[in-house]
Amino acid sequence: MNIQDIQAIQLLLSTPKKIAIIPHRGPDGDAMGSTLALYHFLLKNNHYPTVISPNDFPDFLAWMPGSETVRIYEKDKEICTKILDESEIVFTLDFNALHRVGEMEQVLEKLTAPFIMIDHHQKPDDYATHTYSDVAFGSTCEMVYNFISFLDKKQDLDKTIATCIYTGILTDSGSFRFPKTTGTTHRIIAELIDLGVENTLIPTLLFDNSSYNRLQLLGRALQNMKVMIDHKTSYTSLTQEELNSFDYVKGDTEGIVNYGLSIKGIVFTAIFIENKEEGIIKISFRSQGDFDVNQFARDYFQGGGHSNAAGGKSEISMEETLHKFESLVQNLKIQ
Ligand code: 5GP
Ligand code: MN
Repeated sequence: MNIQDIQAIQLLLSTPKKIAIIPHRGPDGDAMGSTLALYHFLLKNNHYPTVISPNDFPDFLAWMPGSETVRIYEKDKEICTKILDESEIVFTLDFNALHRVGEMEQVLEKLTAPFIMIDHHQKPDDYATHTYSDVAFGSTCEMVYNFISFLDKKQDLDKTIATCIYTGILTDSGSFRFPKTTGTTHRIIAELIDLGVENTLIPTLLFDNSSYNRLQLLGRALQNMKVMIDHKTSYTSLTQEELNSFDYVKGDTEGIVNYGLSIKGIVFTAIFIENKEEGIIKISFRSQGDFDVNQFARDYFQGGGHSNAAGGKSEISMEETLHKFESLVQNLKIQ
């Protein structure tokens, strides 16, 4: 982040302000971690922050400190619109294009307050007054840690803020495995643990928290998996019917996509999840190495993300979507 932006933000934050903090729709550990970390930090600095999520967050994140204060736009449109209208600063975290907030986009577009973007996705849109965008980082949470340092406020870091930051770094780095995990990431993690973060409990709360149904759903996804070994690709799908048969709740499909990469020789994988209510197939893409799934998602499935983890959607049937995907893969040269 450049010095002019930092100074301007320091000035903005020098008197108490009403501040809205917004994660992307379908908030994950990094979106929740970064927004809640910033929430606790701003609260500590005498501001009036509110986290407003476009839709609800998954149950496995409900233990996060401050999650009970998060407003859900989809559930409380009137109150959320009022809070947004009255906000003097709007932070958007873990996304860089306003359409990622769904319906809330129309409200955000009308606001006149300065926007501050903190994000690690590729190709940021130009909507923010101050943009801290860098694809070198594995998580927005690591950037929030830096943001607090840039403001010269590291002394404010406490167990609560550290817990939120830790959660986002942990989840977005695939438990410290993904390529953007650096020595610096680990040094930050060490600092967070020294601040009291419960680094054994948090992974348990996040990952050892499945219902029996969720595990059965995972089993179904693994059974449905197809391998195109010549193209180093695997993919799987879950229809709405299959989701229903395992009493699907939000968050149940989180992380399933990664199993596709655990097959020897596979460097590209995808999961296709039907959402009858929205009339779309939601897709997650993952890759190992050079194959750029962000580009693939942008080119063919109205999506985006990072080079090794991206998402998109399809508005045709599951069968047609899978057929389209197979045809595309057959024409790819994956190394
Ligand atoms: P996931 O597969 O976990 O939902 O998402 C992987 C990554 O791709 C995340 O960083 C997420 O923000 C991004 N992503 C997921 N879906 C979309 C989408 O529809 N559009 C864009 N631009 N990015 C997405
Ligand atoms: Mn993220």
